[in-house]
Amino acid sequence: MERDGERVEEAKARLITELQLLSTITSKIKAFGLFEIKTTNSASWNSILSLRPLAQSFIFCNVNNGENSWFWYDRWTPFDQLINFLGPNGPRDLRIPTSAHVKDACSASGWLLSQPRSDNALKLHIHLTTITNPRHLNEQDSYHWCVDGRDIMGFSSSKTWEALRPRATPKDWFKEIWFSGAIPRQAFMMWLANYNRLPTKVRMSSWGLNVQTACCFCNNNEESRDHLFLSCPYTISLWRLIFARLDRNRAPFISWTELLSWVRVSTSAAPNILKKLVTQSLIYNTWRQRNSANHHNGFAPPQTTFSTIDRDIRNVISARRHRKKFSSLIQLWIQ
Ligand SMILES: [Zn+2]
Repeated sequence: MERDGERVEEAKARLITELQLLSTITSKIKAFGLFEIKTTNSASWNSILSLRPLAQSFIFCNVNNGENSWFWYDRWTPFDQLINFLGPNGPRDLRIPTSAHVKDACSASGWLLSQPRSDNALKLHIHLTTITNPRHLNEQDSYHWCVDGRDIMGFSSSKTWEALRPRATPKDWFKEIWFSGAIPRQAFMMWLANYNRLPTKVRMSSWGLNVQTACCFCNNNEESRDHLFLSCPYTISLWRLIFARLDRNRAPFISWTELLSWVRVSTSAAPNILKKLVTQSLIYNTWRQRNSANHHNGFAPPQTTFSTIDRDIRNVISARRHRKKFSSLIQLWIQ
């Protein structure tokens, strides 16, 4: 056991040293150059280069004049690398070549992208309307080492390790989120929300993006994950309608941990599986309404969103009613 511990420590120290070296190199040369460096006969150099994909997940490009940033390969929007976000047909669909810099995708009068052909392309178009046209800026683009979406002003081995290390708690949560009978797209959204990975306005702003952070529902608070899903008056109305069915005397959640604890506990009136379905549906549908509002299409009143949640729950229970776990849920939900 002790030797295993030593080996883990040794591997950790080596990984951190190599990442630190990579981050130093990155601050000197632009990101794409880094990813073009060829392997050599040196084992330690090759070992460092093999970490490029890992390092890439920490490097965020702050676009100014768009001269150095690569449109498809740098991470400069909330959508990660655009080549992954829009897929291999992206360059053809948007008519932006894979070798383009960000500045090549715009002229002094605006962006030169073709009309969007997919939801993701539409999201990109919408995002681009929120940032300043690089052709109007003189400052050079810059690259930053970011952990959990925050620029940590240089390399920090402890923060980087904290983001990389396998953690015990998420493993516990795996079962709670990816359970048999869950609606995959809703479970995925819950998974992102649970790790605070959804591009809320507060997170986008922390990446240096020029966005208004006010919540689109109440316009009264910053749009963080916890505000959006727990304490916004819009969501509180949804939770009230849910509590009226599952947990009558329940007060609104004041923290994400409190929500998770509530979901975990099974009672005869509200088995854990029903709470999980309801929570995932609420998060999914609230996020949809939030996107609709942010894209200037307005949002449905809470009662309408609750009807959608209600329909989701009824459909999922009815499709799985032959399973033992689901057979009694409908009475509990519609009572
Ligand atoms: Zn709000």
